[in-house]
Amino acid sequence: MKKSKVLVPEPNSKFLRVKCNSCGNEQTVFSHSSFPVRCTSCGEQLASPTGGKAKILGEVTRVLA
Ligand SMILES: [Zn+2]
Repeated sequence: MKKSKVLVPEPNSKFLRVKCNSCGNEQTVFSHSSFPVRCTSCGEQLASPTGGKAKILGEVTRVLA
């Protein structure tokens, strides 16, 4: 079965499930967050704003479309 690859234009924004490196807590982070996102459980920073796409500092476990 051959499936042609469809190039999906990068969406402007999406939500990511990010796992905290410090405590393992998972939470949803906006991919283009314009403010630092902190873990709700331990306060570790999970994402930092870069002016465009946020830099994810934790582990992305899932991408929510
Ligand atoms: Zn944490």
